[in-house]
Amino acid sequence: MRPYLYFLLLFLVVSSCKNEEELKAFSNSRQLANDTLERSKDKNEKKINEFAIVIHGGAGTILKENMTKDDEAAYKLKLEEAVRVGYEILKNGGSSLDAVEQTIRIMENSPLFNAGKGAVFTNAGTNELDASIMDGKTLNAGASAGTKTVKNPISLARTVMEHSPHVMLAGHGADIFAQEQGLEIVDSTYFYTESRMNSLKRVKSHEENKKKVNKTAFYDATIKDSKFGTVGCVALDKSGNLAAGTSTGGMTNKRWGRIGDAPIIGAGTYANNNTCAVSSTGWGEFFIRGMVAHDISALMEYKGLSLQEAARVVIQEKIPDLGGDGGIIAVDKNGNMVMEFNTAGMYRASINDKDELYIGIYND
Ligand code: ASP
Repeated sequence: MRPYLYFLLLFLVVSSCKNEEELKAFSNSRQLANDTLERSKDKNEKKINEFAIVIHGGAGTILKENMTKDDEAAYKLKLEEAVRVGYEILKNGGSSLDAVEQTIRIMENSPLFNAGKGAVFTNAGTNELDASIMDGKTLNAGASAGTKTVKNPISLARTVMEHSPHVMLAGHGADIFAQEQGLEIVDSTYFYTESRMNSLKRVKSHEENKKKVNKTAFYDATIKDSKFGTVGCVALDKSGNLAAGTSTGGMTNKRWGRIGDAPIIGAGTYANNNTCAVSSTGWGEFFIRGMVAHDISALMEYKGLSLQEAARVVIQEKIPDLGGDGGIIAVDKNGNMVMEFNTAGMYRASINDKDELYIGIYND
C-alpha cells in the first residue's frame, strides 16, 4: 500500500472512532438533560392547589422598627380583606381575571397602597396612574399608563383588553376612553392624601440637597427613595386559567411622563396558562430592562425550571446584578405559589384551595 493511502485510511479510522465517542458522549449528555427536564417537569406537574390567589402591596425598605403596631394591623387587615375577595370568587368557580380585578380594586380604593386612592405624587404635584392585566388562557392583555381621572385603573386595563383593539392606552386618550366606556371618573383631587404629599416634599428636599453636592446625583435621589406600594394580584381558577394584574401610582417625584414596569406586559405583569402568572413590584426601570415577569415564565417554559427556581434566579440574581431591587408574586398552573423579594420587606398575602391564609410584611 502506498504510504499516503495508509495514512488516509488510518485518519479515517481514528476520526470515525473519535466521532463515535463524541457522538456517544453527546447523546449521553442529551439523555441526561432530557432526564433532568423530565424530572423537573414531573415535579412541576404535581397539582398543588386546584385554585389559588396571591397578592402584593409593594416591596421596599419596610422595616419592623419603622412601623407602628397600628400601621401593621391596618396593612394586615386590608391585605386580608383584598385577598379574601378574590378567594371567594375563585372558590365559587369564578374566573381568575375577575378575582384579579376585584382584588386589586380593593387595594386601589385604600390610601395605604401606592395605587388608586393612595397613588404617589409626581414632581408637578399630580397623580399619574399605571395598570395592566393579562389573561393566561388567551394571552390577551390590556394596560393603561399615566391616567389622571380613572378611579380604578385595573378596570381600565381590563376594558382596554376587552373593549378596544389595542393593548396599551396612555395619557389623556386613556382617560377619555375610560369615560366613553362608562368607568368611574373622579376629580383629580380624589387622589390627594397628606402622607403622599409629605413624601413628595421629603423627596424634593432630599433631591435639592443632593444636587448641591453632585449635580448628576439627583436621578438617584429621585428614584431610589421614592418608590414602593404598587399592588398586584395573580390567580389560578378552577378551570386552570391563570391571570395577573398590577396597578401603581409609580414613583414619587416622577416627571417627564415617566412610566414604570407596572403597565408593561412582560415586565410588570405576565400570565400564560402553560407556565405561570406574575406581578412585579420594585424599581421599574430595572424590571423593564430585565423583562422580569416574562423572564420567569420563559425560564419555566424553555429551561424547565420550577416556578420557585425561576423566580429566585430573576429576583435574587438577575435584578440585583443589574443594580435594581424589588419582588414578585406568582402562581403556576399547578397552584404553586411564590412570593420572592430582595428588599427588606414586601406586603403580601395568599390563600390556597384549603382556605389557608398567609400574610407577610417583613423578610421572615
Ligand atoms: N414598579 C413600580 C414603578 O416602577 C414601583 C413599585 O413597584 O414600587 O413604577
